[in-house]
Amino acid sequence: MSCPICHRGACMKSFHSLEAQERFDLKQTMSDDVDDLREEILSLQERIKELESELQRILSEKEL
Ligand SMILES: [Zn+2]
Repeated sequence: MSCPICHRGACMKSFHSLEAQERFDLKQTMSDDVDDLREEILSLQERIKELESELQRILSEKEL
């Protein structure tokens, strides 16, 4: 069986760095469906906006 990360026969998943393995695992759990990914991006953008306003609020409180 070839390596699931780089698809080389002489390689194994464990030959890659932990970081590469984690990135690979993360990719495996992500959807291949473009609509799903679009929705995920939209919800992440919403989340970023929330966090930005939260950050602004904290910063402005600090200045008082
Ligand atoms: Zn490999």
